[in-house]
Amino acid sequence: MDRPSTDYLEGIKKGIKDLAAFLGREIRIMEVCGTHTVSIFRSGIRSLLPKNIRLISGPGCPVCVTTRGEIDMVVKVLEMGYAVATFGDLMRVPGSKSSLYRERAKGRRVFVVTSPLDVLKIKEKVVFAAVGFETTAPATAVLARESWKNNFLILSLHRIIPPALRAVLEMGPSIDGFLLPGHVSAIIGASPYRFLADEFGRPGVVAGFEPGDILEGIYAILKMLAEGRPGIEIQYSRVVREEGNERAKKLIGEVFSVVDVEWRGLGLLPGSGLKLKEEFSHVDAEKVLDLAPVSVKDPKGCICGEVITGSKTPLDCPMFGRRCTPLDPLGPCMVSSEGTCAAYFKYGGFHGR
Ligand code: SF4
Repeated sequence: MDRPSTDYLEGIKKGIKDLAAFLGREIRIMEVCGTHTVSIFRSGIRSLLPKNIRLISGPGCPVCVTTRGEIDMVVKVLEMGYAVATFGDLMRVPGSKSSLYRERAKGRRVFVVTSPLDVLKIKEKVVFAAVGFETTAPATAVLARESWKNNFLILSLHRIIPPALRAVLEMGPSIDGFLLPGHVSAIIGASPYRFLADEFGRPGVVAGFEPGDILEGIYAILKMLAEGRPGIEIQYSRVVREEGNERAKKLIGEVFSVVDVEWRGLGLLPGSGLKLKEEFSHVDAEKVLDLAPVSVKDPKGCICGEVITGSKTPLDCPMFGRRCTPLDPLGPCMVSSEGTCAAYFKYGGFHGR
């Protein structure tokens, strides 16, 4: 991809400034995806924006929305004597009593994988704790179709993004527009977000992750607000198509059923989770091992749920940078590299405040 010229970026910045002045009120834009959050911090975009444009981090960090009850369920699998495989980000997320990292230190078998298909290389029976949104679900679906190999079970903790955005608008603070996730949208396309504009009158732009992409996304949101014509647009057209990736969507549909699941900070959301279909019940860890997530409260003092929904920022948390740091995280928003608290800590210059 050619880098946008300095003149072009200056033009976008000026356009944002003019639109912000025209709108003349505080505009709250939620960047849904954790990768956007990190890119925004890393590039200093917040400091380039007019004062009345506020960026709010959203629920698009899969580890951050995984509940403590689900972590407890994975720890239980280890206590039952099974090995567990999962992505590295989940390792240090605290459950109510332990984390996978601590369990591994005790000698329990936890394998870190970078793709669900790595599970096929593990030479013992293993339970794959599958986290992530629509982006990672197709690879888990491919793994499920290899179930004849008989060396794994799948504990599906997958979630889907659009119901979380509905919940943010129904229960959270007022959000004027959404910077929509690039990776998830490469799978699902733009149409599942139409309800944001049609039902709630909020514009959304699917944006890429380069600073120029994000600035263009913000500009397009402000333009739609200024013109009073909310819609869903794709800035990241080099990767995302309106209809998404039909093959990946078909795979998800073949392997998973859409069910209601609990999200950290958002509660039980209708139609927001993916569980294995009946024909894959022989590899479904919840069915084979008779597991069920239990609702467990967040650690005392952790406001991760409110951070995820944009009601508060990490700076509102008395634990931030003191009792809770990336080296010794209390809540999941500080664990994941895409977590809002971790991004504030690493790039925000708020250490030891
Ligand atoms: Fe939770 Fe730590 Fe973030 Fe506070 S700083 S909200 S304790 S993750």
